[in-house]
Amino acid sequence: MIRRWLNKVLGKPSGPSKPRIFPLEQHGIRRASIHSCALKVTRTLKENGYAAFVVGGAVRDLLIGREPKDFDVATDATPEQVRHLFRRSRIIGRRFQIVHVMCGADTIEVTTFRAHQPEAEDDEDRVTAEDGMILRDNVFGSQREDAIRRDFTVNALYYDPEKEEVWDYHGGVEDAKKRVLRMIGNPVVRFREDPVRMLRAARFAAKLDFHIDTATRAPIAELAPMLARIAPARLFDEMMKLLLSGHAERGVRQLRAEGLHHGVFPMLDAILDHPERTKFLHAAMHDTDERVRRGHSASPAFMLACLLWFDMQEQFARLRATGLPDQPALFAAMDDTLERQRVALAFPRRLDGMIKEIWTLQGRFTQRSGSRPFRLLAHPRFRAGYDFLLLRGHGGDAPAELAEWWGRFQNASDEERDGMLKPVSEGGASKRKRRPRRKPSAADAGGDA
Ligand code: ATP
Ligand code: MG
Repeated sequence: MIRRWLNKVLGKPSGPSKPRIFPLEQHGIRRASIHSCALKVTRTLKENGYAAFVVGGAVRDLLIGREPKDFDVATDATPEQVRHLFRRSRIIGRRFQIVHVMCGADTIEVTTFRAHQPEAEDDEDRVTAEDGMILRDNVFGSQREDAIRRDFTVNALYYDPEKEEVWDYHGGVEDAKKRVLRMIGNPVVRFREDPVRMLRAARFAAKLDFHIDTATRAPIAELAPMLARIAPARLFDEMMKLLLSGHAERGVRQLRAEGLHHGVFPMLDAILDHPERTKFLHAAMHDTDERVRRGHSASPAFMLACLLWFDMQEQFARLRATGLPDQPALFAAMDDTLERQRVALAFPRRLDGMIKEIWTLQGRFTQRSGSRPFRLLAHPRFRAGYDFLLLRGHGGDAPAELAEWWGRFQNASDEERDGMLKPVSEGGASKRKRRPRRKPSAADAGGDA
């Protein structure tokens, strides 16, 4: 009693010591909808005397009739104990040790119940606490404590596949029914512990089409500046989750509604505050959402190429105005743009290559005479470059006719293609060659860039 009161005063989340247990009739989640690998993991753990549940996003998504993205398992077995039960498994993570169990091509993440530990608030804490943190964040706890440390009530549900029961410590089943996203514990305290939860709130609200509970939402506007203290790499991951979730358009709108777009994602400032860029970027998000919903992959590099396109163009124009020739101006503009953005959002350098290729290909799409279109067609990044051109067409940044021409050119026969080529003067190609007699190969590509 006193402890509950103390926790309340301190803003520490507390919850009932016993969960509400919902039977199948009340939640409708059948064992059959759980991934076979997750079933295998929970079964093996239980056979060995451990508790094991499917947790987090999977239970939430199934509860509202959606297909889960991945299946996570929580258990009272330690990472070492889990590791010993599965031949194809490995312990990963330093701060949070988790176990990856592989079945065929699939991986299930298994976490040990953890007690609530406030997150380090900024980079400095993370660095100075680096070593101590391994232990500190790996404080194992009871299932009840594990539920308390989770963020939203709908993310703290535990499904027992054997009994087909949902265990609920914080009213998550009820909230899912009402489609409410509610923070566990005191929202101010929980957002301060880990400001990324604000972005998660916006992302889940958009993805699940949930309403953010009033008390959860209230402190966000004031606490938003705390996001500036989050490590750029983590921000990048979170941003990509939002943009590649299949609900980017709604997600960005939600960020804006919560006042979370300023300063945090400089590129989003740019999108949302420049009306002339909006059309292209909305086309990009819309298109990506469609792709993801159709089950196709969406690439972070492509998304970044879209988000930074106008910045790069501006920089290119600026450099050209100083008298730099096109080619060096383009390469310098691309480097400048990527480096500038990387300060706030640490996206991996391995994405640079593809981003730059998508950008440099754009200039080559205007060359529609001679052998050049054939070489471009054989470029390994042709597809990404063309998709980008299409978006520019939709967004009014490139002539719709150009994108349409390339759409036809790709699917045309050799004879039709010859007929489609533009007179040499218009395409700017040299008169030397018309088109290679042999089939163009990837080796022909890149020479014009
Ligand atoms: P998604 O469908 O996007 O994967 P998810 O709910 O599974 O959604 P994850 O980021 O995969 O989200 O995290 C798994 C679970 O871990 C969450 O459901 C939540 O219970 C817990 N969790 C993750 N990040 C946090 C956080 N920052 N604070 C508290 N709990 C968290
Ligand atoms: Mg998940």
